[in-house]
Amino acid sequence: MKKHAASLFIFTVFETVAIVLWLTKGNLFYLFNFSYIGGALALGLFLYNEKKPHARRIVQFLVGTYMLVYLGLICQENMQIEGFWYYLFSGVFEAATIHYAVAKIFGPLLFGRGWCGYACWTAMVLDLLPYPHPSAPRKNIGYLRYITFLLSLCFVGALFLLHIADLERILFFSFIAGNLLYYAAGISLAFALRDNRAFCKYLCPITVFLKPMSYYSAIRVTVDENLCVHCGKCQSVCPMNVDMTDNSRSRENGTECILCMECIDQCPRKALKM
Ligand code: SF4
Ligand code: SF4
Ligand code: SF4
Repeated sequence: MKKHAASLFIFTVFETVAIVLWLTKGNLFYLFNFSYIGGALALGLFLYNEKKPHARRIVQFLVGTYMLVYLGLICQENMQIEGFWYYLFSGVFEAATIHYAVAKIFGPLLFGRGWCGYACWTAMVLDLLPYPHPSAPRKNIGYLRYITFLLSLCFVGALFLLHIADLERILFFSFIAGNLLYYAAGISLAFALRDNRAFCKYLCPITVFLKPMSYYSAIRVTVDENLCVHCGKCQSVCPMNVDMTDNSRSRENGTECILCMECIDQCPRKALKM
């Protein structure tokens, strides 16, 4: 039972959010939505603790396809960053703004970039590509993320300033176009740089929120320096080039950790934990 405490904890946190939002907003959707996501995450942790293979990928597909297909395509809720700007500028605290607040702005103070490891529908596809462990050193082009961030902000800002009619419809088409663009750019970059997560490292605008907040994440990988023999195995399997053998907050690429647990699984000395 003890080994499943984290799974139970995650489910309880999401269920609390689900019930609070359901009761305060009077909308049953929130109960369903957060119960489903919390249930999927708890199931993944349960499977991981039971040493079942592909536990993280199962969660990624359960949550990623739900958000992309059900929320995005069927409910026509733009959960991309443009949708966030749109609802923010409209002064509406609804699905996209709540999603960003929970998963990408305040949530990372607790679970870092868990979103990127377990829920993102873009990475759900990128993680299927053939380069899970980057072999080349990181490129110094992370500034590109600020450009895509500003472009998304300017795009939605311009729609408002120009008083474009039928914004909801435009946002839906921008959701489809944006996702196609993300997939095209992500897959091309992955093959060009031989790194599945190159899009996450250099281009994704959401990391402008995720990185500073996850610096303070309560949940993080730490090393027991008495056990570590500096074999380098952990770093060789990390998709995000994190130096997890340094316990300081300012460790190299520390705000890139997606909590995938690859390093923990591969350490021959069981020196890493989360
Ligand atoms: S960095 Fe962006 S694309 Fe990559 S997993 Fe995170 S949110 Fe998704
Ligand atoms: S794999 Fe384990 S023992 Fe090897 S460097 Fe990493 S933490 Fe240390
Ligand atoms: S391998 Fe370890 S340090 Fe790297 S992203 Fe996964 S959990 Fe984080």
